[in-house]
Amino acid sequence: MAQAPPPAAKEAPVDCIFCRIVAGKAPSKKVYEDQYVLAFWDIRPRAKVHLLVIPKQHVASLKELDELPVETRAALLSACVRVAKDQGILDKGFRVITNAGKDASQSVFHLHFHVVGGEQLREDAITKDPTPQP
Ligand code: 5GP
Ligand code: ZN
Repeated sequence: MAQAPPPAAKEAPVDCIFCRIVAGKAPSKKVYEDQYVLAFWDIRPRAKVHLLVIPKQHVASLKELDELPVETRAALLSACVRVAKDQGILDKGFRVITNAGKDASQSVFHLHFHVVGGEQLREDAITKDPTPQP
């Protein structure tokens, strides 16, 4: 059965930092760009390589993925692999993470994929933080 087209793109929120980066109104260290996506260094890298891959069209998180055209959805994952390759981390290993919503500690509400690597990463990026001891 044919897929329903995604809904018309919503207007980008003016206060979204990643929309400002896409519009060139805020600086970023870009590593890749095409008509659908942009990739740039995380402002606070937590691994030797820590990039962010975002759709140029604003959606808040992976929860809203269906609002993006299928070309953009495909371009996001392809860009993750491409930037990992460009950074020379494809063969040794890398991790792609997206935080969606409160329990995942999402802090910027414009969909983004973290691409991290360049060194040995913690084995378990899934388990919750240990409960702080009193
Ligand atoms: P989240 O916690 O939402 O998964 O990740 C948001 C990421 O965006 C964080 O790793 C944070 O360091 C990064 N970040 C926040 N503001 C900026 C910014 O203005 N520029 C860049 N390059 N990264 C940012
Ligand atoms: Zn945005």
